[in-house]
Amino acid sequence: MVPAALMGITRDRGVRKETFVGASDSSVMPMGEDSGLQATEASSITVPSRLYDAYIFDMDGTIYLGDELLPGAKRLIEELRTRGKTIRFVSNNPTKDPVMYAEKLTRLGLPTPVKEIVNTVITMTRWLQANHPDAVVFPISEAPLIRALAEAGIRMSNNPAEIDIVIASYDRTFVYEKLQIAFDAIWFHKHARLVATNPDPFCPIAGGRGEPDAAAIIAAIEACTGIKCETITGKPDPIMLHATLEGLDVEPSNCAMVGDRLSTDIRMALDAGMPAVLVLTGETTIDDLKRLPPRDTPDFVLDRIDRLLPSDIWKELGWSEQS
Ligand SMILES: [Mg+2]
Repeated sequence: MVPAALMGITRDRGVRKETFVGASDSSVMPMGEDSGLQATEASSITVPSRLYDAYIFDMDGTIYLGDELLPGAKRLIEELRTRGKTIRFVSNNPTKDPVMYAEKLTRLGLPTPVKEIVNTVITMTRWLQANHPDAVVFPISEAPLIRALAEAGIRMSNNPAEIDIVIASYDRTFVYEKLQIAFDAIWFHKHARLVATNPDPFCPIAGGRGEPDAAAIIAAIEACTGIKCETITGKPDPIMLHATLEGLDVEPSNCAMVGDRLSTDIRMALDAGMPAVLVLTGETTIDDLKRLPPRDTPDFVLDRIDRLLPSDIWKELGWSEQS
């Protein structure tokens, strides 16, 4: 067990956490002077003190960054699998097929079946099948979503007169002609409605850069038509969560949501009553956290993903930050 002096045990929304307040013996508490954390950072780290039945992981900035697994990701996932935990990987990014994510994780050293992947290609397709199976849609998207819609039997058209639903998404082939079709379908024919795959303003890419994401496409259509996007099938909307937990017999309170973005990963978890775990390996900084009101604050804050395992398990496994 970790000495009580090293941490305060607190309860928040029924979530047991260990608050790291400074450790000098990294063999006892795997967060010590060698962690590279400044004192102010270390005091913000709060780790779970128990395991959950299921774990939902964001991928970019959480499991990997670009083409490299983040420190501790491989051994964490392997350990959770060994312990029989249910794992799902989620992404708001609709520019890849689920199988592409499974292949990427596998190539990076985490063999992953495609059934463990849920992204907005899946959530949008299922949402249309469940709610608008007969609608004619105009996807402003890249090939993976178009492929999935075709496979699901969803009718697509670029004729504004017959479009029922315009789908805005992260589309790096976006051109004025697509905006015109959306405008005509919504504003001129006064018929089509607007939905979107995901709400992200930009997608982080290597080198600290980013690419304009679906929020930019939504905004372009809203700006010229004067209507509001009705439904967004990505995080933080519960549509994403329901698609992820479908077929699993797990309570949200026993399923940890782990991610690096406050507005999507953490928002979805908090709204659903799931343990909300923020990792500081992606978009969010310690300074961002300091500005948050309590209702937006994650239950746990990790400096590295494998901190998701309670410290007594670190000790049992003989883990250190260097191992
Ligand atoms: Mg992320």
